[in-house]
Amino acid sequence: MYDLYGLGKRPLRLHRAKTCTRSTSRSTRNSPLVYQTDQSPRVCRGCLQMLRRKLANRKLAAHAAAASQPTPSTPDSEARQVFNNINLSPLSTESWFSPKTCGSVLIVLLLHLTGLYLFASGFLLTRLELENRSICAPFAFPSLSSPTPPNTTTPSCWHPKRFDRAVLIIIDALRYDFTIYNETLSSQGSTSTSNSSIPYYLNRLPIFQQTLQAQPHHALSLRARADPPTTTLQRIKAITTGTLPTFVDAGSNFFGQTVGEDNLLSQLLSQNKKITFMGDDTWINMFPNSLNESHPYPSFDVWDLHTVDNGVLEHLYPTLQKNSTEWDFLIAHFLGVDHAGHRYGPDHPAMGDKLTQMNGMLERVFEMAPEDAVVVVMGDHGMDPKGDHGGDSENEVNAGMFIYSKRPLVDVDGEDDGGVKNLLERSYALDVGSDEPFVYLDGLRTLPQIDLVPTLALLLGLPVPFGNLGTVIPDLFLGGGRSGMRNLLEVARLNALQIHTYLVEYSKQRMAASLALGNLNELFESAEKSCEALAVETADVETLREAYLRYLKFTRRALVTARQIWARFDLPLIVMGSVVLILGMLSIAVWAGVYLSRGEDPSYVPSFVGAGIGAILGAIGFVNYFAAQFEAVDQSGLKWYHEVLFGGALGLMIPFLATAIYHFTQLARTSPLRQSLRSPSLWLSTLLLTLHYLKPASDSFTIHEDSITVYIIQIFGLFNLVRSFRLRDDKIRDQLVLYSLAFMMLTRISQISTICREEQHPYCVPTFNASPTTSVAAPEVILALWVMIAAVRGAGRKLLKGADNAEGAGFVGPSVFVPLALVIAAGYWTLDFVDNLGPSATENSVLSSLSAGTVKVYWAKFGYTFGAITPLYLWASDPNCTSLEIVEVKYMDGTTGKRLCVNGVSNAVGAGWFVFLMGVYAVLVMYAKPMGGVMLGVGFLQVMCLCEMVHLWRDRARFAEVVEKKGRKKALPVELLAKVGKGRVEEGDEKSVEEAEKGVLEVGLTFSYLAVLALLAHRYYFATGHQATLSTIQWDVGLIGMLKVNWITSPLMVALNTFASHIFFALAAPLMVLWKRPVLSNTEARFEVEARWVLVAYLAVVGAGGSVAAVFAGHFRRHLMVWRVFAPRFLFGGVEILVVDFVVFVGGVGALWICRKGFNVFLIKLREKGVLE
Ligand SMILES: [Zn+2]
Ligand SMILES: [Zn+2]
Repeated sequence: MYDLYGLGKRPLRLHRAKTCTRSTSRSTRNSPLVYQTDQSPRVCRGCLQMLRRKLANRKLAAHAAAASQPTPSTPDSEARQVFNNINLSPLSTESWFSPKTCGSVLIVLLLHLTGLYLFASGFLLTRLELENRSICAPFAFPSLSSPTPPNTTTPSCWHPKRFDRAVLIIIDALRYDFTIYNETLSSQGSTSTSNSSIPYYLNRLPIFQQTLQAQPHHALSLRARADPPTTTLQRIKAITTGTLPTFVDAGSNFFGQTVGEDNLLSQLLSQNKKITFMGDDTWINMFPNSLNESHPYPSFDVWDLHTVDNGVLEHLYPTLQKNSTEWDFLIAHFLGVDHAGHRYGPDHPAMGDKLTQMNGMLERVFEMAPEDAVVVVMGDHGMDPKGDHGGDSENEVNAGMFIYSKRPLVDVDGEDDGGVKNLLERSYALDVGSDEPFVYLDGLRTLPQIDLVPTLALLLGLPVPFGNLGTVIPDLFLGGGRSGMRNLLEVARLNALQIHTYLVEYSKQRMAASLALGNLNELFESAEKSCEALAVETADVETLREAYLRYLKFTRRALVTARQIWARFDLPLIVMGSVVLILGMLSIAVWAGVYLSRGEDPSYVPSFVGAGIGAILGAIGFVNYFAAQFEAVDQSGLKWYHEVLFGGALGLMIPFLATAIYHFTQLARTSPLRQSLRSPSLWLSTLLLTLHYLKPASDSFTIHEDSITVYIIQIFGLFNLVRSFRLRDDKIRDQLVLYSLAFMMLTRISQISTICREEQHPYCVPTFNASPTTSVAAPEVILALWVMIAAVRGAGRKLLKGADNAEGAGFVGPSVFVPLALVIAAGYWTLDFVDNLGPSATENSVLSSLSAGTVKVYWAKFGYTFGAITPLYLWASDPNCTSLEIVEVKYMDGTTGKRLCVNGVSNAVGAGWFVFLMGVYAVLVMYAKPMGGVMLGVGFLQVMCLCEMVHLWRDRARFAEVVEKKGRKKALPVELLAKVGKGRVEEGDEKSVEEAEKGVLEVGLTFSYLAVLALLAHRYYFATGHQATLSTIQWDVGLIGMLKVNWITSPLMVALNTFASHIFFALAAPLMVLWKRPVLSNTEARFEVEARWVLVAYLAVVGAGGSVAAVFAGHFRRHLMVWRVFAPRFLFGGVEILVVDFVVFVGGVGALWICRKGFNVFLIKLREKGVLE
């Protein structure tokens, strides 16, 4: 890493490694030839003597010639003289953190952030969670009726209660048409010989029809419309809080499932009511502290039709028989119907059986229902014709809802003026700003599902949850005549007041929403005015009804407006984000290709000027003009800052892209780039990346991404294997074949570890943990971890030794500190394993007196400081993997002399980076869990294969090719090198050598290795126990080394666990250009640039993947699987981009730093040896 050739105008290849007997590195293979002329007894490495002679022979510089004069000085001073002639000054003059050095990564980061932000603000439904609670106190307005009549049992809050208790029976995925009974079909079925003409899901729940006919005053059947995404979690949230769904709730619990907003359950709790729950365990995660009694059953296995239902049935009837002191609110959540749908689809005998079972259950429940209870039977959502759900098709949003009570519930007959029918017809005619069916759909009673929330709350005498947007179901409050209407008016007013309070509070927090919500105020105030004006006690039914309808108009308008604000995709923003992402992806790829082969940084000034101009154009509304061409721009949440960002991003890209294209046309004239464009490697990388990027284009590809990635990686291995056989050089060929095979075998091994996503059942068997139901590793995995750390350490050391870099940091790191760190990490997981065996297993053992759990906590605390930090710190203080030696040599003429030898020059920079990567591995193993540590080790071994493969292809095979192309079919690189070594290079040879050196960094080749690194990052993301779903995040690692959550280190550790593979493979990218790259004239500067641009190239590869995933998610925003598959995939793609950007930013700075630091340390060593003054 020193400027040996500072004087020479022409870079020449020199021998670089230490010994001549090894055969791994290129130079050493050729060394015997090179050194034959010297006939030195102990063959040499980077010898200055050689340099001196060559410089003299070729008369490249006058003072070099002077240095070659035989002077009667000591060899030491001779060496010193040479070094003094070469301008060796520390490289630390330029700051390693400057616009020039960080500009490329900074621009990429800005583009990614802007594109992702614009896209996400159009795509992700966001809503601020308010923590306010409704309180059980009278509203600050005069009550319409006389004060609440004194209640005998418990007092009511806002309105006198009608029921003391409630039973909520959720039959998951109970589609509306499952609940209706079609007589014609039934008779048809009974007359025909077979039932096959009727779908299995129809007429299986006659209980509803029977009850409606037998007790019309006691039952109400409704079609409840769920807001998409129609997933169970979102629906449970909606029917307890009354809010609209969001994908990302911008609240206190960003990724957790716990419901933070005011809800029915928390209102029940605050009134000291008792809640009993049984069924789908999703509830347990959502309401961890609200359930007094719970019988949860796992919802994970969608192929199991009976476990949950049988469990619920076991507890349901005994609970119903208990008296009123034991429970006030009973939740029973059945999953069988949903699972039958997922497994077989709705039209299947299993569905028929399941529904029949449910019918029997309901018969008993209606029979056993306590007198003082209201029973609600409902589906949380429907299902599509295949039995799945999640989207917004009619079949998915229409769920059944049936309300029953032993007390009279509804006034169906109705007097002519006060009846429900009349009221509904009137409300149907209201203009609520939407053509959504709020009252009837196809003539059938229809309403939003969230209407249940205020209805249940007020029926039970509870406050309505603070954020509710539903409207009370009028049928349940409208008794006969004037008093009934008055009751309904009062309830509607409470409902409107609650919604108004919520909207006012929300507008205070989110200014953006205040504008849209502002005009609702007028509606509310006009309703209030008309209500205050009328004399409630005396007004006739018609006046009361008028007042009610005004409130209804307000509450419905509020829901419609809120939906527009929160639950809409914003197409202009999605398009703008996609444009920035896609253009950015293309630009970054072109930049990386161009500047990587130029080995030079461009100027960033025009880009930032362009960004400024673009931002100004955006600010004055230029973007809006174009956005207006899209549909529904007036409904868009497009704001001035979005336009500024969009304009700025385009302005940033265009000048940079223009200069890159200019350089590209220039470069295209020179041979290396032309060769690159024609090279098979470029086609290989194109193929690999196209396959990689197309994965998010289909839901089933995304679901099976983990195994698809393996096949794409194997294409790479196979390509290298086949191509190797065509090489003429036996030794290179054998090595390449060996490495390709090893690489493919390791890829196969990575498939051992799997974690399954729900949709992969039953073809997927999770092996990451000991069993699907634990998060504990199997004992053989612990053993494998120990084997793996030994293997990584051994292989790493062998690789470094082979390149003569087992010196300095190259010795201390892999031999002492990295192994120690690895032992600490593996030791932690072993202790964790022992701890998980439970107390009985550690009895009578050494650990019996001190629990393994305590030991592991302190062990981990020690691990932080030592295991993770020390190796990286030691590396940072001296990343130099070379050593200096003065050896005695015997010349041909019999004289002896001394020579300065530098060991490991040929891989000085690459080795330093490799040692760093070992340190990174040691850190990641600590947080990756045992199986993750093993898998990352497999990945590391693959990186080692890749290092050697890229080196062999780049240096040796290329070199041979160039020589062959020059028409010297028989000239082997060995011969040519020998000539160089002897200093007898002819004109033609020189050109070949030069060209070989220039062609060293073939862009196509480099890109194919970067592509496979990106693929490996994906592969090992899955192998370390993750999937593109939130449920696979391994939260438990956040507690390593501590007894309770620390809000700084815990998220960091979870991030290190989740993105371990992305971090590791991004940091491995520089090795693809640094490994075994010879130090040539001015190369340390070139290395810096290349190391940085190869990282940008890696960003281009990774960023393109995330960008494409985003665009596909935008394209499929109406797809059934958007919330289950595409949106999480986009989220992970986006976070992956940002994580890799960050890692690369740090890594890019690190690349610079290691080049300079290593060089400066080397200078110090020279001084120590007395070679330099
Ligand atoms: Zn569900
Ligand atoms: Zn389901």
